[in-house]
Amino acid sequence: MTQRVAYITGGSRGIGAGIATALAKDGYDIAISYVRNEQAAEETVAAVRALGRRGIAIRCDGEGNGNRAAIRQVVKELGRIDALVCNAGIYPYGDVAETTDEQVDAVLGLNVRAVMIETIEAARHMTTGGRIVLIGSTFADRAPFPGISLYSASKAALSGFARGAARDLGPRGITINVVQPGPIDTDMNPATGEAADLLRSFMCHKEYGRISDVAALVSFLASPAAGFITGTALTTDGGLAA
Ligand code: NDP
Repeated sequence: MTQRVAYITGGSRGIGAGIATALAKDGYDIAISYVRNEQAAEETVAAVRALGRRGIAIRCDGEGNGNRAAIRQVVKELGRIDALVCNAGIYPYGDVAETTDEQVDAVLGLNVRAVMIETIEAARHMTTGGRIVLIGSTFADRAPFPGISLYSASKAALSGFARGAARDLGPRGITINVVQPGPIDTDMNPATGEAADLLRSFMCHKEYGRISDVAALVSFLASPAAGFITGTALTTDGGLAA
């Protein structure tokens, strides 16, 4: 059987690192991207190799113009690409009326533009089918408190993109879906403090989710069993959007 390869953007820390090790356990060889934390990226790669899989880390600022080159590097070094997980993201927070043009450009650059470019380039290399998973957010469907307009808009764009791209990619055997997590304890969204307590109050479960809750859903969508699921958004948020 052909050795499958997955590329996870923002795989150095948090949810992306969890997805990388989950897909390595599923049998994928793994490429990750990172932007600042080389040491954390090396730790993810070491965890992948400890599972008996090949692992590489690629430095790529998703806000820049290196996204196509990063995917070409994955194909060059690991031979192919079968799964793409667009996970790298930023969470700008602030009153919409105080927002700068630079903040708008940054969130669109990483959370939206990079996802589109990566999908376009990866699809070209997925000559025998493939799996694309975009990490959105439950805040695409619900903005329960002020300050998250840019973030909500950027994540809402992903379901429209996936819905449309699924039409183009379906005949090539490529599925594309969005996973929309709720609060997960990472550097981006620590589970302590007033903001965390507010988030818990909106949830049915009243507790943050685990990185493994998100990784399990991505793992399923990247598996052969999920071949009939495409163009949709699946939410795992402890009932925040219920
Ligand atoms: P973290 O902040 O913990 O990790 C972010 C990851 O993205 C790191 O690997 C980081 O690399 C990378 N990254 C950041 N900026 C860039 C950039 N400009 N170019 C390339 N890579 C970059 O985030 P989470 O793990 O919490 O979030 C991962 C995804 O999940 C995001 O898309 C987020 O919006 C989404 N999400 C998170 C939720 C949560 O509660 N945590 C809830 C819903 C969605 P480096 O280590 O080098 O800095």
